[in-house]
Formats: sequence, C-alpha cells, structure tokens
Amino acid sequence: MTPKNNSVTPKPRPKRKPTKKIFNVHCTGCGITCHRTNEKFKKDQVAKGEMFDLLDPWKENGWSDFTKDDYTIGENIRCIECGTPYPASDFKIPDNILSQVVKA
Ligand SMILES: [Zn+2]
Repeated sequence: MTPKNNSVTPKPRPKRKPTKKIFNVHCTGCGITCHRTNEKFKKDQVAKGEMFDLLDPWKENGWSDFTKDDYTIGENIRCIECGTPYPASDFKIPDNILSQVVKA
C-alpha cells in the first residue's frame, strides 16, 4: 500500500540552458575594458577575433569588432585604445585580465 502524500509537490525548476560565462577583458596597458568574451571564448585556446565582442561605447563611436578570420589570432587581439595585445606569450588570455560579467 502506498501512503497518501498530501504534501505539495514542488514545482519543477524551469530548465535553463547552461549559459556560457562572459568575461570583461581588462587591458593591461591602459586599464580600459573595451572588449568582452562571447560564447566562442575558451580560456585554454589561443585567442581569436571571433571570441570577443566590442563593447557598445566603442561600437557607437564607429569601431568594429575584431575581424573574425583565421589571421586575427594571438597578439593581433589588442586593445583598441592603446594597442596592447591581450594574450600572454602563449597567445591565450590570462585569467588575471578577465572578470566575469554577472548578468541580472
Ligand atoms: Zn589598452
């Protein structure tokens, strides 16, 4: 015999897609953040143009995203303001210039 369960069944949690973490990229040269990573970004891979999005204030000023081709890679990934490459000598983005964007 099954005991009757009068307790309220908890509502199933809404299923959420696991969202990729997005990071602001802080330039080590000038301290400005003009790019953030997008869903293509992988910390353990060589930095490529397609992994970054330009932030709106720069876009609105007519700057454009990195070219998303195979040549925009490694040290070509640079700060728009001062030209300092973001990647370290291994062409990957070091942890210490990333800060996670917390979405509301
Ligand atoms: Zn800079």
